[in-house]
Amino acid sequence: IIQMTSVSKWYGKFQVLDDVSLSVKKGERVVICGPSGSGKSTLIRCINRLEEHQKGQILVNGIEMNDNVRNISRIRLSIGMLFQQFNLFPHLSVLDNLIIGPTLVRKMSRPQATELAMHYLEKVQIANQAHKFPLQLSGGQQQRVAIARALCMQPEIMLFDEPTSALDPEMIKEVLDVMLDLADSGMTMIVVTHEMGFARTVADNVILMADGRIVESAPPETFFTQPAHPRTRQFLDQIL
Ligand code: ATP
Ligand code: MG
Repeated sequence: IIQMTSVSKWYGKFQVLDDVSLSVKKGERVVICGPSGSGKSTLIRCINRLEEHQKGQILVNGIEMNDNVRNISRIRLSIGMLFQQFNLFPHLSVLDNLIIGPTLVRKMSRPQATELAMHYLEKVQIANQAHKFPLQLSGGQQQRVAIARALCMQPEIMLFDEPTSALDPEMIKEVLDVMLDLADSGMTMIVVTHEMGFARTVADNVILMADGRIVESAPPETFFTQPAHPRTRQFLDQIL
């Protein structure tokens, strides 16, 4: 469903992605980890063109991500993204945060969008807070609302960029649980995270990035116990 081939990207003279190739099949879960500044965020942001790559090819559902505005908007319709900061609209209620996308972009009627929104708010166990404003919720609750909002757009692929790293420890689990459910439902997911427990249970493939390159890509059994690259061992020693 996603095919990246020899993708490189520069910020000015600084090469942030160096010949990155990655293929993700429908329903696969990929976890990306690696040191700060290694290009993890840049990599996943290239997939929906929040960042532009300069070399190589990115295909999503066979459509090439390039300058073509129609391609960009078609691809973006199939991708949901979650950030470290929740990016909810503070002046809208939780419910309205969820309704706005489907009504504006998908041209859904308000009652239809409300039904969809309540369905996903129930899934993330926050339906009873639908009429509150985002800042009246805890960080974990806000992140669950952000997940529900992304799901309301009925994406085929979900990208997560360190979704739990801004959260207090006791709230991390509630967000990871929602992500586990999502994985169980068969969603295609690319998750940048250092939650190695999540990687172990959920990932089909774990990727280590360093200096803009994919250093290691292996199923969790191999990644955690017998990585091919010494750099992976070194990284794991640091964080585990
Ligand atoms: P972290 O774990 O800290 O989130 P990361 O692996 O996500 O790091 P990126 O955010 O992709 O790393 O950044 C990779 C490198 O590119 C860093 O050295 C960063 O300073 C640089 N960089 C990121 N965004 C820009 C930008 N807009 N302009 C110039 N350099 C940038
Ligand atoms: Mg990052």
